Amino acid sequence: MRLLSKDEIKKGKFMPTSVKRAERLIVNKEYETRRHVAFQVTDPKSGSEHVVYYKREKEPPLDWVCDCEWYTTQTIHNGKYCAHILAVHLAELDRPD
Ligand SMILES: [Zn+2]
Repeated sequence: MRLLSKDEIKKGKFMPTSVKRAERLIVNKEYETRRHVAFQVTDPKSGSEHVVYYKREKEPPLDWVCDCEWYTTQTIHNGKYCAHILAVHLAELDRPD
């Protein structure tokens, strides 16, 4: 799985508000197949939920996909990941294994 480093996330091209928000989202890994990995991302404040996929066969930045509006209006055009995708990166970077 292609993950950004914490430095890339925090000092990179992403909106500071997205990074801040990503830090308080709850990430659950749902399942993994040969072609993709699925995560559920929940905002504990609003209760909103989004599904994030890592697609092994796609090229960056479109190897990471989210079903939120930001993704369709921003990420597809300029590669700026939404808070949900950034939350998955942060969660995976912190996994002990
Ligand atoms: Zn999203």
